[in-house]
Amino acid sequence: MSEDIDIFKKVVSHCKEYGFVFTSSEIYDNGLGAVYDYGQNGVELKNNLRQYWWKFMVQTHDNIVGLDAAIFMHPKTWKASGHIDGFSDPMIDNKDSKKRYRADNLLEDKIAKYQKDGKTNKADELQTALDNSLLANDLDQLKTLIEQHEIACPFSGTRNWTDVRQFNLMFSTEMGAMAEDADKIYLRPETAQGIFVNFLNVQKSGRMKIPFGIAQTGKAFRNEIIARQFIMRMREFEQMEMQFFVRPGTQKQWFEYWKEARIKWHLALGFDKASYRFHDHVKLAHYADAATDIEFDFPFGFKEVEGIHSRTDFDLKSHQEHSGKKMQYFDADLDENGKPFGNYIPYVIETSIGLDRLFLYTLCASYKEEEVGEGDKKDTRVVLSLPPILAPYKVAIFPLTKKDGLPEVARKIIDDLKFDYNCFYEEKDAIGKRYRRQDALGTPFCITVDHESLENQTVTIRYRDSMLQERIPISSIKSILDDAINWKKILTQTV
Ligand code: ATP
Repeated sequence: MSEDIDIFKKVVSHCKEYGFVFTSSEIYDNGLGAVYDYGQNGVELKNNLRQYWWKFMVQTHDNIVGLDAAIFMHPKTWKASGHIDGFSDPMIDNKDSKKRYRADNLLEDKIAKYQKDGKTNKADELQTALDNSLLANDLDQLKTLIEQHEIACPFSGTRNWTDVRQFNLMFSTEMGAMAEDADKIYLRPETAQGIFVNFLNVQKSGRMKIPFGIAQTGKAFRNEIIARQFIMRMREFEQMEMQFFVRPGTQKQWFEYWKEARIKWHLALGFDKASYRFHDHVKLAHYADAATDIEFDFPFGFKEVEGIHSRTDFDLKSHQEHSGKKMQYFDADLDENGKPFGNYIPYVIETSIGLDRLFLYTLCASYKEEEVGEGDKKDTRVVLSLPPILAPYKVAIFPLTKKDGLPEVARKIIDDLKFDYNCFYEEKDAIGKRYRRQDALGTPFCITVDHESLENQTVTIRYRDSMLQERIPISSIKSILDDAINWKKILTQTV
């Protein structure tokens, strides 16, 4: 087992042990595949990450506004967006193990193996054949490639494969009380379409002028064939998407703008710069004229976290065609000949990030095991070095003992802070143990109230990262927190 995978396993079990992430309905047969619940600390971290995105996108851009569209949408939406006809993965079953795979993933793994073994020519050749088969949607050819390259099922070890079939990733259900009048509707596979269908509602009611954006966070659902790597690939997940509407012809410049803006936002979190890279798409989806992914170096390698796509006027145009409603914008600004730009369907730049993948990389980048102490006091501590703005609890307050009026002083400190900051109170166990538990949650500050506090109104503050302790007046706690947990500080690094 490589060291990185070892760390990943530790992160996954840390998530369960410390109330960050649980498997959905785990008491039944070990839970539901690829569906997860966020626990008491996970929900705080997730809310903070969402807030960081929202504050940057909506609050610091006066030409971007928010939206909260419903998960259910008129079924024609998904016809227009192309999801009914095209949102599918090619899958293949092994007849012996009964395991199902994505045909393209099996071939990609083989390409990676060729590369690892130094068979570069074979890897390139297979990559080209795979790209061509996917582009032509040639399922027979995918199966032929699997056979030609002698790919076996990792479970049964056999090459007894079914044909390759397309598998639509959308979940469906019925709307309507009676089976006879029920209509098939879908659980949205992306949040973007809720923005497109509301484009004119928002533009008109908000008197928005192009260029402007609409941002939304919310659940999306995909019936992923293979669910892998914990919350990396889920069947129910959360997206944070922004569609930026621009004048046709300016899309390249806005695409570059958003590429830079989004990477700066990631980097402002303060994790290692080398953990991020762009992956520009060479083969583009039919609706895109430029696309890139922001990838993060997870313990299992670089993987997509966010997509930035120049989607042309594809979506609005398609909704116009399918709904019969005009999706045009009137641009009164004057062109170089002094004439108004007039009516047009705007072009769109999309930024689309998965909140759960962001959560996962934040944990992977923050999880540390450190050697502490000396001699027979040598020990390992697990610490989440989360940016303070993201930490589930900002401060933990400990009375040294449960008596002598110390809990009352601790409670009073919390009463002063709790309207601004999430505080943790604990009076059980030795102080050292309590510090360690907070390290594992990522709490940046611990405050200990002792007998001296009763005499001179001072406490001990202990800093998570340096483990330094110092005596400070109770009256200065608030300003220390205000300084460290400060949206302005982090957001000014993004602009
Ligand atoms: P992938 O190629 O990894 O399946 P995608 O290209 O289909 O991702 P998009 O449709 O561009 O993803 O969705 C935007 C973002 O939503 C992704 O960058 C990712 O962070 C997130 N996302 C997509 N599918 C999932 C999933 N099944 N579980 C968790 N997050 C997801």
